Amino acid sequence: MRAAPAGCEGCGECCRGMGESVVLDPYDAHMLENGLGRPFASLINREVGLAVGRGLILPHLLMKGEWEACGFLGSDGRCGIHEFRPGICRLYPLARRYGEKGVTYFAPEGNCPGRPRTKVRVSRWLGIPDLLHYEAFKAEWFAFTSRLQEVLENEEDPNEEREINRFVLENCYLRSTGEEDFFAVFGERMERIRRVVRF
Ligand code: SF4
Ligand code: SF4
Repeated sequence: MRAAPAGCEGCGECCRGMGESVVLDPYDAHMLENGLGRPFASLINREVGLAVGRGLILPHLLMKGEWEACGFLGSDGRCGIHEFRPGICRLYPLARRYGEKGVTYFAPEGNCPGRPRTKVRVSRWLGIPDLLHYEAFKAEWFAFTSRLQEVLENEEDPNEEREINRFVLENCYLRSTGEEDFFAVFGERMERIRRVVRF
């Protein structure tokens, strides 16, 4: 896989002007909470915003100020939370597909523009220790949120839509998973969430 110029140059281009596209998943919330030593709720409306996509409210990194920069971007152009940065930041400039063969990766044209690409090993590029469990979680989360969006798009009762969003936000992001094994804790929690949302 060809990804970036001999590793990331740290130019910070992918940390500015990204709109609402750096969407966070529950593993990102877990990593941010433990890495920063702050509850995820304390980041909302500061470093993290909430946006609705197809009826589902999900958190994303806020781009702020004259340069529309991520709140974690340092004045040296480097990520201030490199060790626990979100999954989308780890993946960039690669992208991920979810299909019958499981999770696959590809390198879209136009990311890291103008720079010659070199070969990278995806597992090394991502730098996530428990990649097997992480990919299983990503596939499950993708399927869950896609299905939930279908449900919410067809929901005619705005109170029900609000209640489902509140429940998912509360249980998937705001309720701490502590410092324990995220994949084990979250796996059990998802079973309960699925029962409540009935799929
Ligand atoms: S645009 Fe590419 S080289 Fe620049 S910070 Fe992002 S990943 Fe690194
Ligand atoms: S978390 Fe780090 S890598 Fe991700 S957009 Fe912010 S500064 Fe860039």
